[in-house]
Amino acid sequence: MPLTVATVPCLSDNYAFLAHDPETGATACIDVPDAAPVLAELDRRGWRLTDILLTHHHADHVQGVAVLVAATGAAVTGAAADAHRLPPLDRAVAPDDRVAVGTATGRVAAVPGHTSGHVVYLFDGAAFTGDSLMACGCGRLFEGTADQMHAGFAAFDGLPDSTLICSGHEYTAANIRFALTVDPANPALRARAAAVDAARAEGRPTVPSTLGEERATNPYLRVSLPELAAAAGVPGGDPAAVFAAIRRAKDQF
Ligand code: ZN
Ligand code: FE
Repeated sequence: MPLTVATVPCLSDNYAFLAHDPETGATACIDVPDAAPVLAELDRRGWRLTDILLTHHHADHVQGVAVLVAATGAAVTGAAADAHRLPPLDRAVAPDDRVAVGTATGRVAAVPGHTSGHVVYLFDGAAFTGDSLMACGCGRLFEGTADQMHAGFAAFDGLPDSTLICSGHEYTAANIRFALTVDPANPALRARAAAVDAARAEGRPTVPSTLGEERATNPYLRVSLPELAAAAGVPGGDPAAVFAAIRRAKDQF
């Protein structure tokens, strides 16, 4: 049975996610910007936290872990490569390892670039992507190259369009404003801009999105298209070079 996903707004623009296996009652929290809203959501839903999965070491993704562990006894999983700068891990994982939440099994994939040890967790129906693949955008390249992130995004290639993309921040509106500068004629992107503006006006989260929406509108998943190559000014349109040019342009936007 697929996981039930709950979005938990934290801090000013972060999201944690609860992933609940209805069969066993096991529940994972993916990233912990703040323990209090996570505990409140667990309480509200009557879910018992069994696991914490961490995408990367930045404070706004891990600073609530100690309090959440103290309150629930949940087991903490994170990348072995970053064990030295993550909170204490009960399980250190490497790319292609499997992680379980009750009866649901996910795969760990490395998507470096935002940080060198950034991992994503790919479950049936939901991908927890932290600050790698984000709603209509991608994370800033703090510790890696555009080539690394572009190559890492291959992890999403075979997944169905219906897969939820559970990313770490409410950055969608700003990401869309930039995306429109490199993909202005894309009708799906224009429609998404309107839908996201409406959602934000009502205070609704725009995360998670679906992989299908991202494929249709996220410029970083559209780098093979000639119109993106032209907008990025990359003759020949090598996808990795288009990715790098678009990410550079976003940094200056
Ligand atoms: Zn981050
Ligand atoms: Fe972050």
